[in-house]
Amino acid sequence: MVDVVRSAVTISRGELAALTGLTQPSISNIVRDLMTDGIVHEIGQAGSAHGRPRRLIAINPASRFGVGFHLGPETLTCVAVDVTGGVVGREVVPRAPGEIRPADRLARRFTDFTRCLDLPPERVEGLAIVAPTVVPGRPDTAAALTGLRAEVAERIGVPVLVENDAAAAALGEFWSRRVSREQAFGCVYLSTGIGAGIVFGGALYRGASFDAGELSHVSIDYAGRPCPCGNLGCVEQYASTAATVTAARDDPGLRARLSLDGSEAAAYDAIARAAVNGDPEAYAVLDRAAEHLSMAATSMVNLLDLGRLVLTGPGVALAGSIYARRMRAHLERTAHARHRHTLTVELSAQPRDAAGIGAAVLVVQAAVAPDHTPGGDR
Ligand SMILES: [Zn+2]
Repeated sequence: MVDVVRSAVTISRGELAALTGLTQPSISNIVRDLMTDGIVHEIGQAGSAHGRPRRLIAINPASRFGVGFHLGPETLTCVAVDVTGGVVGREVVPRAPGEIRPADRLARRFTDFTRCLDLPPERVEGLAIVAPTVVPGRPDTAAALTGLRAEVAERIGVPVLVENDAAAAALGEFWSRRVSREQAFGCVYLSTGIGAGIVFGGALYRGASFDAGELSHVSIDYAGRPCPCGNLGCVEQYASTAATVTAARDDPGLRARLSLDGSEAAAYDAIARAAVNGDPEAYAVLDRAAEHLSMAATSMVNLLDLGRLVLTGPGVALAGSIYARRMRAHLERTAHARHRHTLTVELSAQPRDAAGIGAAVLVVQAAVAPDHTPGGDR
């Protein structure tokens, strides 16, 4: 119900009944309970065909808040959102190398962050911690995150969820763009790996072991480069930000022109900046990566019959338009359902923060629409 109100922005009780198939009295009861909880409120009236004005209801954004922490390789991004997914606070702090007692540090960060923002503690529904997905052959990453979850929850006294960064980013984009739950919605998250998130019927699709959306290991070449996962020609070997940095470092001209010797993230940003500023070689490197990524995107779109795809993640922060342009052109030629329905390819408005925003949205969704969060106790 909250999900329908969220995607409609404002809606009357009659329209809610028509959309959900519930009876008017049921709708009135549910809306009354949601108003008592402060989650929705009446925000005015609109005329109706029968002359009687309809009272409109909408989500009350400040009724609940969610907090998300994105553990990146070098930084911790902290985000707080309201019920609509609107960002109410953001902070990026460096991560200490070889962090000792990370649960203590994260718990302290949570308390400081929510206090600085003046969020009423009783309205903060919890914390979600997101990190890059498990590396094949190193299952300890998942176990570590699950262990961390319990330790942090014990310290802060509110529910703690964990999720992979790409899946969280997809939910964040779905929620804050007010995408209707009827739409088959997907996200491609470009970073040092390539993740995907899929939202069906308003819920994140998680697979058998919370590992759905491993776009990184979709093969685009059966005789291609070997990948540590055991497969050949995985798209990650051609289109991840790490692969792009390697390709640029192998180009003597680019190597001489751009400073590519620092961290991988800094080198990638230098390539992206040069590409959008008209450096033809830098553009070519990114465009090739975009083409490879688009091949994997076709497989994803065809497999799931998606209607809308959003590109997000740090890899599209500076030169996202190069990826979006290439992917639109590629999908217009290759998407199987292209003659039956449109496929929209969009760029995230906040690609670097998308995973943190998505984490915070995960908390909000678990609080106000718990039926959309299978395994929400995870
Ligand atoms: Zn692979």
